[in-house]
Amino acid sequence: MTHDTSSPTTLDAHPREMHPQRWGDPAAATPLPEAARGLVELAFGLADTPATTSVALAPVGVTDEVLAGLRAIAGPDHVHTDDGTRRLRTRGKSTPDLLRARAGDLGDAPDVVVRPADHDEVAAVLALAVEHHLAVVPFGGGTCVTGGLAARRDGYAGLVSLDLVRLDALLEVDEVSMTATLEPGLRGPEAEALLAEHGLCLGHYPQSFQHASIGGFAATRSSGQSSAGYGRFDQMVVGLRVATPRGEWRLGSSPANAAGPDLRQLVLGSEGAFGVITAVTVRVRRLPEVKVYEGWRWDSFVEGATAMRTLVQSGLLPTVLRLSDEAETGLNLARPDAIGEQATGCLMIVGHEGTPGQVEARRAAVTEVLAGLGGTPLGEEPGASWAHGRFNAPYLRDSMLDVGVLVETLETATFWSKVDALYADVRAALERELGAEGGSAIVLCHLSHVYETGCSLYFTVATAAGEQPLERWGRAKAAANDAITANGATISHHHAVGTDHRPWLSAEIGDLGASVLRAVKADLDPTGILNPGVLVP
Ligand SMILES: Cc1cc2nc3c(=O)[nH]c(=O)nc-3n(C[C@H](O)[C@H](O)[C@H](O)COP(=O)(O)OP(=O)(O)OC[C@H]3O[C@@H](n4cnc5c(N)ncnc54)[C@H](O)[C@@H]3O)c2cc1C
Repeated sequence: MTHDTSSPTTLDAHPREMHPQRWGDPAAATPLPEAARGLVELAFGLADTPATTSVALAPVGVTDEVLAGLRAIAGPDHVHTDDGTRRLRTRGKSTPDLLRARAGDLGDAPDVVVRPADHDEVAAVLALAVEHHLAVVPFGGGTCVTGGLAARRDGYAGLVSLDLVRLDALLEVDEVSMTATLEPGLRGPEAEALLAEHGLCLGHYPQSFQHASIGGFAATRSSGQSSAGYGRFDQMVVGLRVATPRGEWRLGSSPANAAGPDLRQLVLGSEGAFGVITAVTVRVRRLPEVKVYEGWRWDSFVEGATAMRTLVQSGLLPTVLRLSDEAETGLNLARPDAIGEQATGCLMIVGHEGTPGQVEARRAAVTEVLAGLGGTPLGEEPGASWAHGRFNAPYLRDSMLDVGVLVETLETATFWSKVDALYADVRAALERELGAEGGSAIVLCHLSHVYETGCSLYFTVATAAGEQPLERWGRAKAAANDAITANGATISHHHAVGTDHRPWLSAEIGDLGASVLRAVKADLDPTGILNPGVLVP
């Protein structure tokens, strides 16, 4: 058993600014590893795709009066109109975002980036935006993959990126209630490091953990790799403070209530369209004393999925539970450090965190169930390898783009009885669309999050980028979304709606649901300045 009291996720500081055309730490960009290069060449061939670097942005489109107003609110040092800062606040980090950035398309760049220091300054920026009819895009970590940072700008007097990076304090810890109040600009590692000083943790580790922010987690209803044990981010939130164009909104009077519908849920997942989250109160846990991750092998995806369902429906949920299909296992995508090595069957990663007693008891019970269902224990090496490489895949995506291979992911969720059909239909849609015109695609999948009633399916797709990668991926993604909708599954389990999924949202929530969202938007943001074109159908 691993007695590891450090974070599984490297709490080291990461630079807050990512590379403008790639994922993550600019210093961490690496060429495609040799082992993967051979596989890629065999599957798709290699092409050199240098990125465009020196593209000038459109001139700043807001008036001097607006700039003076922003400077009066946040201070002159916190209002930026230079190309470099505007470039870094252009869109998020989906593969289409990266392709556009690499091609020098900076059409969605904000006119100005403002960095308020606190709730009152955020509220003042919103008031100024209402007065001048400016579109405002709240910016957390900038890791969005659904176009949620690419707001509409037509009809507005300019576009302001409202960067929350300076709201980065741990405001309060209540060790009796086990809650903490965090400001939204804290990045994942920063929040965990501040909580660790109190012996506490959040336990929220999405793959974007190193760069995504607390406000972003709440605004997108994010889900992490340890959400089986710690819960989705929306399940952790007990209170919120929000700045809206209509004024301040505080939510969360008690851990639970029957005082009408739970309005916190209107803010969670609102993607900056209803207000700007300026503080989040979350439920916290004691830092785990022990973490142990291990691998299990299943002969087939169906057998592994059945084992997952059995575990969760018997109330035996480990902290981490994920299952790769045969294709993903074969490529070792769950273990980026081992890509190129052969693996068969389906790899399941099972992780336990807690006190030694808790981990021992839960591990024994889970082992009994999995062994009884025919799983083969692979020991701790695959688990350690997964934990070590768990944040590396986005860097690999950049190295693949460098050699002309487009890699993108998409995710959905459904009930257990519908998983097989959804899996088959989404795969088929992607393969059909990307296989048209003589192309080929590799489609991989893992079950990433489980619930008593169902699970989420996370697909990774690789294909030759070709001459028109944006159009090629756009057609494939639309076909996958149509398949998801036809199966009655959700358009997003954790990546949110943004602009990319918006055309499919009404099919999921119905015309009445769309009308409710429009009514809430009209009430909280009557002049429509907040993230226009994002989320609300
Ligand atoms: C490589 C990679 C891996 C990822 N893995 C995961 C994963 O495992 N799980 C997961 O859930 N997601 C994942 N994502 C998606 C993304 O990281 C999440 O959606 C994350 O929650 C976004 O947080 P952020 O701080 O970067 O928000 P941003 O990208 O800055 O913003 C996202 C949206 O929320 C709005 N917003 C941001 N902050 C606020 C605020 N304070 N108030 C109001 N609105 C706000 C923005 O306007 C935007 O619409 C991944 C993305 C990438 C690129």
